[in-house]
Amino acid sequence: MASVTFAPDDRYNAFITTLSEAETGPGRLSGIPVAVKDNISTRGIPTTCASRILAGYIPPYDAHVVTLLKREGAAIVGKTNMDEFGMGTTTENSAFGPTLNPADPTRVPGGSSGGSAAAVASGMVRMALGTDTGGSIRCPAAFCGIVGLKPTYGRVSRYGLIAYANSLEQIGPMARSVEDISLLMEVLTTHDSRDSTTISCPYRHTPDPSVRGLKIGVPEEFFGEGVDPRVAAVVWEAVTRLEQQGAEIVTCRMPSMSFALAAYYVTCTSEASSNLARFDGVRYGPQADTRRPWHESFQDQRREGFGAEVRRRIMLGTFALSSGYYGKYYAKAQAARQQVRNDFVRLFRTVDVIAGPTMPTVAFRLGEKTDPLSMYLSDILTVPANLAGVPAISVPCGTSEGLPVGLQVIGQWFRDEKVIDVAAAYEQGASL
Ligand code: GLN
Repeated sequence: MASVTFAPDDRYNAFITTLSEAETGPGRLSGIPVAVKDNISTRGIPTTCASRILAGYIPPYDAHVVTLLKREGAAIVGKTNMDEFGMGTTTENSAFGPTLNPADPTRVPGGSSGGSAAAVASGMVRMALGTDTGGSIRCPAAFCGIVGLKPTYGRVSRYGLIAYANSLEQIGPMARSVEDISLLMEVLTTHDSRDSTTISCPYRHTPDPSVRGLKIGVPEEFFGEGVDPRVAAVVWEAVTRLEQQGAEIVTCRMPSMSFALAAYYVTCTSEASSNLARFDGVRYGPQADTRRPWHESFQDQRREGFGAEVRRRIMLGTFALSSGYYGKYYAKAQAARQQVRNDFVRLFRTVDVIAGPTMPTVAFRLGEKTDPLSMYLSDILTVPANLAGVPAISVPCGTSEGLPVGLQVIGQWFRDEKVIDVAAAYEQGASL
């Protein structure tokens, strides 16, 4: 079997693990270096979720998406840095130190798939896999100036993904061009019965960069309070260019935006508290002192093994699910989530796609956001697509203060092809 040598100058701390010799074979991805986020299981290669609690863990199996990449000959050259278990918007919550943004190394790359975005943006790899629970593919794509797609919920198997919040997350492609996103989607959408939420819906498509007659909904809320007016201006210009290319722009409303973020954070912390209960430090992670009472050593290991943000979310989620509060928080969040879905159903009766900024600002300075709430608020434009399960892409659309800005295009369930077409149209129009 042929191999690809990989010796990058990783000045951005994009990788947690690299392979100096990566195997490659024949196929559509033959010889192409691909990076994989470190919450996706790779047989024989450490998979850490950027957490100390998984120190020493080497998966005995490949995630379905990794099997698919290998089947097409891809050279998996490394595992990328991330916010611990995917919890964050900057890649600063990593036990391996933050990743830097190649567009400006004094800034964060976004998160939580910041390592994948930095690896692609800096040219160390041609493509990467990320995961997106509330924006973790689109946010770093926007901040680093690359393309990233969160596929429709259920389109890509999550077998072998270490779960953060199952009802929200998807694995998806990150690359410098829409064409490569499309190529990866062809590879990743092969059905897998081991993830029962996956339905068989193979992506076989060549991007069609024509938007003539396409109706693009632009929700007022996406340009409202909290969105940096300079970012909003850049994105408006991008939308206007799609109009010049033949699309029809329809302004609209998404009232559920006022509670989408709260619904997201109650849901994701609840699911996280349940998912992360399995990590007890017995087989890997900080070593257990087995002479002590079980509950004491369990507590110590989890205190040592998890970072501050993960501990915060486990506590929030455990509280939200506790008896007596379930109705007040979790059940209410599910009702709010239904409203978000309803908004999309209503909007998609009259428009084909929805467009707006991916992030309300450009990339923050490293260490700039210190309080959790202001960090959470920056996810406001990305979480609606996860709550509803619809596909959403971020494509670079210019700069503000010299930093990349992303245009987000959200589509109807299982119309990932359409958001890819619109992104391709924008990309081609922009290069004319
Ligand atoms: N920033 C969001 C969070 O912290 C989204 C993360 C993600 O998509 N994994 O939950």
